[in-house]
Formats: sequence, C-alpha cells, structure tokens
Amino acid sequence: MNDSIVEEAKRCLQCKNPRCEAGCPVHTRIRDVIGLFRENRIEEAGEILFSNNPLSLVCSYVCPHEKQCEGHCVRGLKGAPVHFSVIENYISAYFLQGFEPTERLEVKKNGMKVAVIGSGPAGITISFVLAKKGYDVTIFEGNDLIGGVLRYGIPEFRLPKTVLDEFKKALIKCGVVIRPNTSIGTNITIDDFFRDGFKSVFIGTGVWRPNRLGIKGESFGNIHYAIDYLRNPDVYTLGKKVVVIGGGNTAMDVARTVVRHGCHDVTLSLNRPEAEISCRPVELEMAKVDGAKILECVQPVEFKDNGVVFVSLEKDEKGEMREIPHSETFHPFDSVIIAIGQGPRSVIVSTTHGIDVSSRGLVAVDECGRTTRAGVFASGDVVTGAKTVVAAVEVSKRVAEAMDEYMQSL
Ligand SMILES: Cc1cc2nc3c(=O)[nH]c(=O)nc-3n(C[C@H](O)[C@H](O)[C@H](O)COP(=O)(O)OP(=O)(O)OC[C@H]3O[C@@H](n4cnc5c(N)ncnc54)[C@H](O)[C@@H]3O)c2cc1C
Ligand code: SF4
Repeated sequence: MNDSIVEEAKRCLQCKNPRCEAGCPVHTRIRDVIGLFRENRIEEAGEILFSNNPLSLVCSYVCPHEKQCEGHCVRGLKGAPVHFSVIENYISAYFLQGFEPTERLEVKKNGMKVAVIGSGPAGITISFVLAKKGYDVTIFEGNDLIGGVLRYGIPEFRLPKTVLDEFKKALIKCGVVIRPNTSIGTNITIDDFFRDGFKSVFIGTGVWRPNRLGIKGESFGNIHYAIDYLRNPDVYTLGKKVVVIGGGNTAMDVARTVVRHGCHDVTLSLNRPEAEISCRPVELEMAKVDGAKILECVQPVEFKDNGVVFVSLEKDEKGEMREIPHSETFHPFDSVIIAIGQGPRSVIVSTTHGIDVSSRGLVAVDECGRTTRAGVFASGDVVTGAKTVVAAVEVSKRVAEAMDEYMQSL
C-alpha cells in the first residue's frame, strides 16, 4: 500500500496550471503537497493540508474524488488520474497523529468566548479556525461523542471512527472545550450564551429529522428511518428480508450496513431507473458487490406488518415518472428502512427569537453565514440542506472569518 502511495506521487506531472486544484472545492494545493511529499517534507505537506482544510483526513476517505480533484487531473485524460486521495490520506493521518498546536500555531488568547453548537464538519472547522485566532471556543454537542454524521451516519467501513478520536484530541490540544450530551434549545438556549458573556454563537446542527413518506402503515414497528438506523444498527432486529427505500448515498450506506449486520437479503427500491439515481456510481457498485438487489421504478403506497405494497412507475412523454394504473403489487419484507433524505429540527430556532428560517426550516443566512440575529452565525447542512463534508468546510472557513470580523468590531 505504502509503495503504491509513493508510486502514485511519482506519477504527478507537477503541472503549471494544476487542473486538480481547480476541481477541489477548497482548492487544496495538490501539486505543492505532492511535491513536498516527494522531497520527504511530509510535515510541511501536512501543515498545508490542515491549515487549508482541517478535515482533510476525513475528506481523503469520503469526498467524491472522481468528481473533484481526481476527476480533473490531466493524467485522467489518457488513463488513470493521480489518486491524490491516497496521498492526502497518508499525509493527513501522519500530521494529525503528531499534532502539536502550541508549537505550530503560537496561539495568543484574546479573551473572547465563542459558543459552537454541533460538532459535525461545520462545527469542527469553525472551532479550529477560531481557536487558532485566539478565541476561547466551547463546543456544545447533543450526542456523547463528536463528529455529527461522521460519527453517527457514515459507517465504520467507510470512515474509521478512530479518526474522529484524533480530531477530539487535536481540538482539546488547541484549547477547545467540549461539552457533550448538551442539546441546545432545551435547558440552555442561545440567550443564555449571550447572558454568560459569549461574544458570538455558531449554529452547525445539521439535518437530523428524517423525511417521511406519509403513507399508511409508516408508524408500524417494522418501519425505520435511515438516519435513526445508522446511529446504532446494533440495536435493531430486522429479520431476514429487508428493503431500503431510496437511491441516494445514505440508502447505499444503509443497505451495506444491514448486510454487515447479518441480513443477506437486502433490496434497494428505487423510484426511477437505476441509471438515474442520485448516489455516487461507486457507492451503488459497492452495494451490489455486498449483495444488495435492485427493484427499480416502484413507489411504496402502503406498509404492512409483513411487507410493502408498491405501484410500478413509467416515464411519461415529458420524461417524468408516473404511476401505472392498477399496478399495485405486494412484496414480502420483514423490515423497511426509509432513506429519502433529512431536514432540520427546529429546537433551537423555536426557542430563540430573531433567527429566520426558510420554508424548509433551514437557517437563513447571508453569504458569510450571518443569521438574522446579530452575533449568531450558521453553516453546514442546517443552512444548505444535506450536502457534503467538503461543502461544509468550504463555507465554514468563510463564516469563521466573518465571526472574527464581527467580534473584533465589538
Ligand atoms: C449516511 C450519510 C452518509 C454521508 N456520506 C457522505 C460522504 O460519503 N461524503 C460526504 O462528503 N458527505 C457525506 N454525507 C454528508 C455529510 O456528512 C454532511 O454534509 C456533513 O456531515 C454536514 O456537516 P454539519 O456539520 O453541517 O452537520 P452534522 O454532521 O449533521 O453535525 C451536526 C451536529 O450538531 C449536533 N446537534 C444537532 N442539534 C443540536 C443541538 N440542539 N444542540 C447541540 N448539538 C446539536 C448533532 O448531534 C451533530 O453532532 C453523508 C450524510 C449521511 C447522512
Ligand atoms: S492535475 Fe494531476 S498531474 Fe497535474 S498537478 Fe494535479 S495531480 Fe499532478
């Protein structure tokens, strides 16, 4: 494996205009990082990666590289692109394990407190950037462990959870205080933060309310939602035959997790042709490798204790999916897992005045993450709806700068 990383780095052409960097949403200095790696200057390479993207290690595992850096690499025009993800993974893991911020960052505290609600990619990014600028950052996390979707959504076989333990250590080394098991909006509210002297508040609470189908039988004991299931698959007794409803990346993660928990008869039901579903092609391929079967162009219309009634769908003249009349068919399943997306919970905005939300309940912000209440900022999925890790990092870096500017102006 390590041989192939070195070989991969040697394949880089050190382009004058690196197309790979243009394809990266956070414009990682890929060419320079690979150049330093080749000169055995791994510390410097790691520093460049981390200071540009504190979550580079996570990104090396979960970014859709085929659409981003690797999808743009000039080598890919006539063959295989340089697989930067494996190089980034090696450097970032090395860097994070030896992370010592006091030497590297020379932090001078400025005495101002910041409250960060949520420890997903958005909250972690904000915390690293503001801690580096000298703020006293406290993360308030509703769960017992940090990471958000990285911890309680993306399965272990795609992202080892030990990575998140390294992030926790690094945050603490940067002076960040973590208050776990504290859901803001219940006992403690945003007003309490301002009363207690926090100069600004960041909301990075993600989207954790599963979308529902709203059909008969959805309240039965054998029907579950993906984001709830992935949180702790060990506690579910699903039976022998399971259907996962949905064709996104979350549905693929669910199907592959179900198989790994001992149920080998898993079907993915799709409301369109397989070729048109939204997940990464590689995720679908891997779900199939793991044994998932596909039931395409169907829509569930009723759940029963022992299965699902589906109607069949076909394309109309405009290319939109429509139901085929009288096509209801019962398919026996022991359990159903619904994976059709998530929306935000409203616990914070409903207990705080002055924070506007969109019709979908997403927090309304300007381009720098300022909410409609002075001193309160937001980014990540709670603003954009479900997106990607790198998208949360990209915008959160900007939001951290806006928070700094705001606090310095007080
Ligand atoms: C199953 C699944 C697989 C995915 N796979 C990928 C992938 O492969 N690649 C990729 O790039 N993206 C993937 N994503 C999307 C990506 O994980 C998210 O876009 C990203 O995690 C969003 O980060 P965030 O910080 O905004 O929110 P989150 O990760 O959701 O973190 C929000 C945090 O806030 C906490 N919180 C919520 N409410 C409160 C409260 N009131 N008080 C205190 N804390 C609170 C939550 O507990 C959580 O820790 C996936 C998403 C899912 C669901
Ligand atoms: S585009 Fe490919 S070959 Fe060129 S610098 Fe980037 S990784 Fe190297």
